[in-house]
Amino acid sequence: MNIAFIGLGMMGRPMAECLIAKGFSVRVYDIDPASSAEFGNASAPSPAEAAAEADIIVTMLPNGEIVRQALLGENGALASAAPNSIVIDTSSSDAGGTVALGAELAAHGITLIDSPVSGGVPMAREGTLALMVGGAEDDTLYARVQPVLEAMGKRIVRVGGLGAGHAAKAINNAIAAATLAATAEGLVLGEKFGLKPDILLDVFNNSTGRSAVSESVFRTQILPRTYAQGFAMALMTKDVGLAENLRAQLGLNLPMLQATCAQWREALADSAPGTDFTAYHLFTEKRAG
Ligand code: NAD
Repeated sequence: MNIAFIGLGMMGRPMAECLIAKGFSVRVYDIDPASSAEFGNASAPSPAEAAAEADIIVTMLPNGEIVRQALLGENGALASAAPNSIVIDTSSSDAGGTVALGAELAAHGITLIDSPVSGGVPMAREGTLALMVGGAEDDTLYARVQPVLEAMGKRIVRVGGLGAGHAAKAINNAIAAATLAATAEGLVLGEKFGLKPDILLDVFNNSTGRSAVSESVFRTQILPRTYAQGFAMALMTKDVGLAENLRAQLGLNLPMLQATCAQWREALADSAPGTDFTAYHLFTEKRAG
């Protein structure tokens, strides 16, 4: 099976490497020539050239607008993609934009599936990501993409129609962002009282304050103050914003989500470009005084 892979950043690069390691024929493209060059002969000079022979086009880009550009823009994948090919958008994109993009691609005989991922760079390297798949409710369609999805991920959940994966991903990350913010505040509060951060984290991890972030990045990035997990604060803030947009569109009053979005936007405005999401802890310390 021929695959075009577009977007070779923190996540896309190891995901594309997993596909190559598992025997797929992959042509890659990234707007940054240095990222593409690392793939040698497998790199293409444009999305159109990457997609020319592809059965499946995988996108792993910062947001849905950029996915649209890589597919429909100048020298975009659509210029050469065969009818009956499938696009799998693994980026964390906006669900509404995905539904609109799906209709535009369908007019050219191309099917769009959303399959955002969770697990970060370490699981992308291992090919053990969690995938939330939208738009592949049809079993025949799912059977065509299944080998590709299984090469990148271990826990695959079919969540519903097109856009359902992107909605689920935004909601998941909004919960993770709120949890990280609450845990950072707890740590700052405990330290001010005189508790040692490693002991306090141990308490959380053996008690009801435990979470995915307390068990992972608080231990590996925040306590050692390395703040380099490989997920940009700008991307996390975008994800919380997508969940907040969904809330606004549906007219719900969800104050935790609204507060989380406001806090992450404030942290982002206060941080240098490229800051890792784990540095939200530094923002919490600074703001706590
Ligand atoms: P990244 O910024 O490291 O990588 C994005 C890549 O896209 C870069 O290499 C960039 O050069 C390339 N790019 C930008 N515009 C392009 C264009 N027009 N055409 C082709 N390439 C282009 O981002 P990332 O951390 O890999 O995240 C990618 C997506 O995955 C985002 O939607 C993010 O929210 C999501 N995500 C990230 C993580 C993580 O831990 N980093 C985890 C889960 C999901």
